[in-house]
Formats: sequence, C-alpha cells, structure tokens
Amino acid sequence: MKIIRVGERGILFTFFELKSSDYDCVTNVYAINGDRHFFICDTYLGTYYIKRIKKYLEDNFGKKEYIIFNSHSHWDHIWGNSVFKDFKIISHELCRKHIAKYGEEDLINHAQQFAKNKIEIVLPNTTFTEKIAFKEEGVEFFYTPGHSEDSASCYDHKDNVLFVGDNVDDPIPCFMCWSELDKYKDTLELYLKINADIIVQSHGDITNNNLIKNNINYITKLITKEKIDLENKDILRKHLVNIECLTLNF
Ligand SMILES: [Zn+2]
Repeated sequence: MKIIRVGERGILFTFFELKSSDYDCVTNVYAINGDRHFFICDTYLGTYYIKRIKKYLEDNFGKKEYIIFNSHSHWDHIWGNSVFKDFKIISHELCRKHIAKYGEEDLINHAQQFAKNKIEIVLPNTTFTEKIAFKEEGVEFFYTPGHSEDSASCYDHKDNVLFVGDNVDDPIPCFMCWSELDKYKDTLELYLKINADIIVQSHGDITNNNLIKNNINYITKLITKEKIDLENKDILRKHLVNIECLTLNF
C-alpha cells in the first residue's frame, strides 16, 4: 500500500494486487479527512486492506464518523463495505441494484484469486438518483454514468478535487461495459466543466483535465467510427478489452 496526501485534506491509498494479474493496474481508495467525517471512496478487495486504511486515518486524525461511497458495483470497489456496516454506505440506486444482482456471482468468480480473507457482500444502505451533498463538509456524490451505467463520482469543493472512479483511465478508458457512448461523453464533458485542479482515477496516478480530454477524444472516435491510433501497446490492449466488453453488452 502506498499513501500520498492530495490537496489539503485528501489521502490516496494505492494498492498493487491487481498489478500482477491480467488486469495489470493499480487500484486506489480515496479518503477525505472532513471536519466531522472521514469520507472513503470505494472499499477495494475487503477487510484486510480496509482495516489498514482505517488504522492510518485514526492514528493520524483521531476517531470520526465514516461515510462510505461506492463509485460503482464492480467487485474491486466494494468488497470492504462490511467493515462499515454501522455507517452510511452511499451509492447510486443502480449500483445498489447491481451489487444485489451480481455481487455474489462476482465473488465466486474472483474470490479465489483476489480475496485475502472471507468476503461478505454488504449493500449500500443509502442511495441517490441525481446527487447527495454534505454541504457543511463541502463534499458531494453525483451520478455520472459512463464506464458502467451505475457509475457515480465524488467532488470535494474545498480542495477542488474530483474522484472519477473508473470513468477516466490512462491513456484511454478501459472495461467499458455500457454501450451508451453519447452519455459517457456527456459525463466526461461535465467533468471538464467542473474544472477540478486534481482528478483522482481508480486505476492510475492522480491526473488532470488533459487526460479527460484524451478520453473524450477516444470516445468520440468510437462514436464516429474514426480510425484509432493503436501504436501504443497500452492503448491497443485497453481498446481490445473495450471492444470485447461493448460487444457483450450490445
Ligand atoms: Zn475498477
């Protein structure tokens, strides 16, 4: 686990377990040290990892109430929810629905390779349709479909930091499992309008709006069926995964 501070009150926890697998990527959990709450974006691969995050936060900042956010329903973002059963676990309503429908099946498919200890699938207990805001803390969660139909994002008004989950990826989006590309593009354009200083993506380094512009470029080419330059091997790999995912979802 690598820890870096982001802005005045953000802490980025980066994990490497997926790096040595076919997925070949790091995974981030982003925490905001609010005045009265710790906000935690995503819960990664279970209690083993999340307890280390909890310890770091409480050792450094004392005890606070937790507010947990699931950016979407995919297994690599939700397995640590069980640590926070007694706190608010927030997601978009579709995310909760998808975890209820596919959570156990995903667990069967991936637990052997990625679960360090027994995983209990815990559903979000608070859902929203458009957004949910914690005004006094300057934090809001809002619906941003793209990578998946159930994707949502977190914006920290005080630090001007935007956590985008899997909607943004370097150098192009990956595992695109929703075929409404126009709506995906709308989400990325909305991100640009927010004009955050720092973009936190789930599976790569902290970044900025230039990467979002590159991601928009790629989606636009998919929509208009323009030729995509596949010389970079990372782009080629992610593009092939996208084509496969999109074909399965049409
Ligand atoms: Zn992911």
